Amino acid sequence: MTMTHATSFSVAGVAVDTRHYIGGSRVGSALTFSNCSPIDGAALGEIARGGPREVDAAVAAARAAFPGWAATPAAERSAVLHRIADLVEQNIELLAMVETLDNGGLLRSNLRGVMPRVAHNFRFFADWLLEHLDHPDFDTRGHTNHVSWDPSGVAAIITPWNAPLMLATWRIAPALAAGDTVVLKPAEWTPLTASLLADFTKQAGLPDGAFNVVQGYGAEAGAALVAHPGVSRISFTGSVPTAKTIARAAADNLTPCSFELGGKSPCIVLADADLGLAANLAVEQYDNAGQVCLSGTRILVHESIATEFADAFRAQVGSLRQGDPRDPETDIGPQVHLRHFERIRGFVDRAKAEGANIVFGGEANSELGGLYFRPTLIDQVAAGSEILTQEVFGPVLTMQTFSTDEEAIELANGTEFGLAAVLVSGDRRHADEIARRLVAGTVWVNCFFVRDLRAPFGGSKKSGIGREGGTWSFDFYADVKNTVVAPHGWKE
Ligand code: ADP
Repeated sequence: MTMTHATSFSVAGVAVDTRHYIGGSRVGSALTFSNCSPIDGAALGEIARGGPREVDAAVAAARAAFPGWAATPAAERSAVLHRIADLVEQNIELLAMVETLDNGGLLRSNLRGVMPRVAHNFRFFADWLLEHLDHPDFDTRGHTNHVSWDPSGVAAIITPWNAPLMLATWRIAPALAAGDTVVLKPAEWTPLTASLLADFTKQAGLPDGAFNVVQGYGAEAGAALVAHPGVSRISFTGSVPTAKTIARAAADNLTPCSFELGGKSPCIVLADADLGLAANLAVEQYDNAGQVCLSGTRILVHESIATEFADAFRAQVGSLRQGDPRDPETDIGPQVHLRHFERIRGFVDRAKAEGANIVFGGEANSELGGLYFRPTLIDQVAAGSEILTQEVFGPVLTMQTFSTDEEAIELANGTEFGLAAVLVSGDRRHADEIARRLVAGTVWVNCFFVRDLRAPFGGSKKSGIGREGGTWSFDFYADVKNTVVAPHGWKE
């Protein structure tokens, strides 16, 4: 079939290729899907729509590149990753604008926080590979145990749309550093920055085939990738239902999976909390228009300060500016896609129908139209209701009160998720005691979103399987090997 669609999309004079990147070359597909900006619905090009054929080609390319990349000395692998980071840094404005057009995230956040973090992902794992990947040898009756992290093969990385390049690179970087080769399947709503990254890997001298991007729509490419027997690791960031499907597919090949899934995290405000700080932190839970798996979306506040807290919080939310995410004054942009917007609205409408009270928000911002949903707070929600147990992934928070620590902990731990928790307290010992009893991969005390790549990151319960960060990432992407050397049998 002849391809008639355009194979690139232009931003500020730079062409973003909308084809796959396989074995170091651009490859089109007969089929495409349309990509639109959530800001205003503007067309952002026709994206190659891959399936099993493209996945086979990408896995074959990654397998062919694997022996060479795995045998590349660690210092050289590290240098290539630093060169990728250099290129990311040199192109921060382009990457930030493309990401904003694609998923509607704030341009100022992408410029100042997200894209520098993308570069840091590469630098961090490049350095960790050389400086910290070390387990001291130890002795067993005169035998030396030596632990090494050997490359494992092809890592399949499937990523979501809420922080596309940041979440992708914090898996791609350790996988490449470990000596694995990679096939990335970006989310279909946000395919563009992954394509730019492919160009940078080429310019940085990463061997052809060591990094591949297969674009795809829905489950088409992703399902073929995770079922592929040529894949040695699956890293998936997304929803629980898709993770279950992936786990079933991975079971046939017993492919190890790392899952970072959803959350329904609490934001606990103790009676001894600084209310200004508590209100600030609650406002931060609307970051990225609420499309953050880590958000503390269930505010649990001590009954003695609930009214005061709600007033302080409302005042702060009132000063947030919603609008075009390219405007530096904007605090909250649009939701990523009409389908997602409707899903959020559905949650809020059903909560209303069940008798919950909308404290503020609860509807689309009619002045802006389109996909802009007002920051929302809901209280008087019946225990066990959907809005308290399901991940909404939008600017929708609930508020519940508690009267004792026991009750706070029971509420906090009372969902099937365990990704994160935010805790606000003015009493260090009280905070430590509560933090110790929370079931969560990350607990933030009097802060939010402080992320250090040396720290383990992941979710408890249905929020995930495994931890990444520092050596934990290498433990997943590498084959960890112990070599036991006897004291005897040596000729000299
Ligand atoms: P969301 O995070 O929007 O809820 P999903 O969890 O369904 O979405 O999807 C996250 C990523 O998983 C996307 O890149 C999507 O294309 C991909 N995906 C969807 N279905 C499958 C599947 N069956 N196998 C592998 N990947 C899938």
